[in-house]
Amino acid sequence: MADHEGAATPIPFLDLKAQQRRIGPAIRERVAAVLDHCQFILGPEVAELERRLADFAGAGHCVALSSGTDALQIAMMAEGIGRGDAVFLPAFTYTATAEVPLVLGATPVFVDVDPDTFQIDVAHLRFRVEQVRAEGRLRPAAIVGVDLFGQPAPWAALREVAAEHAMFTLDDCAQSFGATLGGQPLGREADATAISFFPSKPLGGYGDGGALLTDDPARAKLYRSLRSHGEGDTRYEVLRTGMNGRLDTLQAAVLLAKLDAFGWELERRRAIADAYDASFAALPGLRTPRRVADSESAWAVYAVLLADEAAREAAQAALRARGISSAVYYPRPLHRQPAYEPHHDGAPLPVSEMLASRIMALPMHPELSDRDVTRICAAVAEAVSGIAGAPSPAIS
Ligand SMILES: *Cc1c(COP(=O)(O)O)cnc(C)c1O
Repeated sequence: MADHEGAATPIPFLDLKAQQRRIGPAIRERVAAVLDHCQFILGPEVAELERRLADFAGAGHCVALSSGTDALQIAMMAEGIGRGDAVFLPAFTYTATAEVPLVLGATPVFVDVDPDTFQIDVAHLRFRVEQVRAEGRLRPAAIVGVDLFGQPAPWAALREVAAEHAMFTLDDCAQSFGATLGGQPLGREADATAISFFPSKPLGGYGDGGALLTDDPARAKLYRSLRSHGEGDTRYEVLRTGMNGRLDTLQAAVLLAKLDAFGWELERRRAIADAYDASFAALPGLRTPRRVADSESAWAVYAVLLADEAAREAAQAALRARGISSAVYYPRPLHRQPAYEPHHDGAPLPVSEMLASRIMALPMHPELSDRDVTRICAAVAEAVSGIAGAPSPAIS
């Protein structure tokens, strides 16, 4: 692992170059094989990746796609979700989760999240479903559970709510492939599971990519058709309106090499999270993320809460002064985005707004050395105890 020359060497938020120093030869070998056979669209690496991902998750089927967003879209297209349909989803997530129902003409219904785990709040979901039913304007069609930051959404409860109202369940697992719930890898908690291979996700490619996992062979068949323009059993038979949603063979080749290292990388992320938790437990100015019970996170993001927006700004500045990058996921809840606000029914979502003003993510990637982690922990302690300025107020 790369060593650092001095204490002031910047610690990046993500370090894909360091990862390439570790697994570059395996990636080059896989890519060279594709350059030799030239089957750039749906080549043998795509089928191999689909088998390996399905095996990893214990899912019946995997269909590799062009992005996590396209995975969400194809899953909803396959259910015929569109105008007049309500799609329930958390307000505190990445934009794609709300974008897809809107692209299909459906209405996102924003649900608040839990202040400790940051996952969708099931009691509020129940309230929102009843609200939509009572209003009678939209049909409750789907629940998109987002496994935020690497941790699983409360799936048992989400399935219960969905079953009560005959709704489709979609797992937006873009950030959390590799996590477990009840000892089982994510991938079978919902009717379909969407994953993303965006470079910064735990299993990241070298470009855009995604996949859908499902145990239902009929759905898998539909997903394959929809990713290739709705084709039937022969290429020039168009059965439905689809899209171009295929994963490139070159991306599949990169991902196959990445998958060989994925288990070690998850272990490393978990060790770093444990070190952060232990180091920050006694700091009054900061709250560590609550672990979802009976699960193991994929640690896409390690996010802490500061007392308020000013404390966060001060902490970020103090970390920056020590060469340590931080980030804010997400500075705005989705119902406050200019594009989505007009589609929001005005329901208050106070926890999502509170998190947007106080959350801060620390570097979290497998290339962080133990020395890096020690430096980050010391810098965070200094930043929130106010060595760089006013101390952060204590928070509950
Ligand atoms: C990254 C992400 C997506 C979209 O994935 P892309 O591959 O970038 O299209 C969707 N949902 C969530 C929660 C994400 O974090």
